[in-house]
Amino acid sequence: PAARKYTGMVEDCCCDYETVDAINEEVLHPILQELVKLPFFRYFKVKLWCDCPFWPDDGMCKLRDCSVCECPENEFPEPFRKPYNGLSPDSMMCQEGKPQAAVDKTLDSKVFKGWVETDNPWTSDDETDNNEMTYVNLQLNPERYTGYTGDSARRIWDAIYKENCPKYPSEELCHEKKALYKLISGLHSSISVHIAYDYLLDESTNSWGQNLPLLYDRVLKYPERVQNLYFTYLFVLRAVTKAANYLEQAEYNTGNPEDDLKTESLVKQLLYNSKLRSACPLPFDEAKLWQGENGPELKQEIQKQFRNISAIMDCVGCEKCRLWGKLQVHGLGTALKILFSVDGDSHMNQPLQLQRNEVIALFNLLNRLSESVKFVHEKGSSIEEVIEEQ
Ligand code: FAD
Repeated sequence: PAARKYTGMVEDCCCDYETVDAINEEVLHPILQELVKLPFFRYFKVKLWCDCPFWPDDGMCKLRDCSVCECPENEFPEPFRKPYNGLSPDSMMCQEGKPQAAVDKTLDSKVFKGWVETDNPWTSDDETDNNEMTYVNLQLNPERYTGYTGDSARRIWDAIYKENCPKYPSEELCHEKKALYKLISGLHSSISVHIAYDYLLDESTNSWGQNLPLLYDRVLKYPERVQNLYFTYLFVLRAVTKAANYLEQAEYNTGNPEDDLKTESLVKQLLYNSKLRSACPLPFDEAKLWQGENGPELKQEIQKQFRNISAIMDCVGCEKCRLWGKLQVHGLGTALKILFSVDGDSHMNQPLQLQRNEVIALFNLLNRLSESVKFVHEKGSSIEEVIEEQ
């Protein structure tokens, strides 16, 4: 096997590259691959037809593969159609005030009280706007090459990086802004990895396969992009393990007891896996953030920037890219909510409450990152050796 290129700790995280690859390949990847195929995690509620709030839509999409196939009414699970029966958001406000900047690393043990429709301060979509939402079967709409490129795609990435998380001029940027940049860059790497993993190699014969030069040119050539992918993976993994009590108690009901038992069992296997817990007990240490005296203001500022990124997803000019862009940003917003769920305005620590769709986005995002980490690990050093030899 080729020499390992990335060694030591993943920057700003608490696990090393070797451990991440081992737990990903032995534990997380196999569980997540099964989990996302089950009905609970397969259907994502999304508003796909939405006006871009920033500029007129000039989306150019070359392939038919850009369009998303939506689910007919009778396909998605019955319980997803019913209104929520959880408590109203008001009755769940925690009355006990805590300084906003302090990050509590534990979560209440009796945590799941039914799915709710509470707004996430980190994201822009209004989940209660059910009329415009459709369910999409993610298994039928894989994230892969779509032909979406050129000025339209470039403008989205530029807007995200320039307006919301400019690349940090080394020491100048605080940890928190650097973390936001790295999360976005890691997600961008993951999107590029998926394009390279499932690429249209020959349009005339409709043959699909791996495009390794593209993987190298867009991701592997830039060590920072690989590092940021691992960072984002560990960040999201930390959110999932931090919310373990909540996620363990959550209802994964789709009306099919056999599938639902399997979902519950796989979720538990993932959350309480002994290998994961001993090898990488704290994938990311969120308590290190927001410690400065301007922590609360900084959090509001970054929350606003992330909400903007979430709104920019409405401007992605290719439907399938928009679906996966929205899902993954939603998943990141959910991770941010779990890790920093103190409400920006109320100066209160709120008990964690998640929407069903947030949990669906979170696990699907983790699965996508896990696939990217695996592919990068498998192909990383060997491609580089081939390219260096040429
Ligand atoms: P881009 O990927 O567009 O990158 C633009 C610039 O950003 C680069 O020149 C570089 O300076 C910088 N950059 C690139 N990667 C990183 C990184 N990891 N970290 C920091 N900076 C970076 N296309 C598909 O085929 N399928 C999809 O599913 C898909 N989903 C998309 C989802 C979203 C939200 C967006 C905005 C675009 C999506 N695209 C998708 C388009 C795709 O991401 C590229 O924009 C397109 O393939 C053109 O690539 P490019 O080589 O011009 O570089």
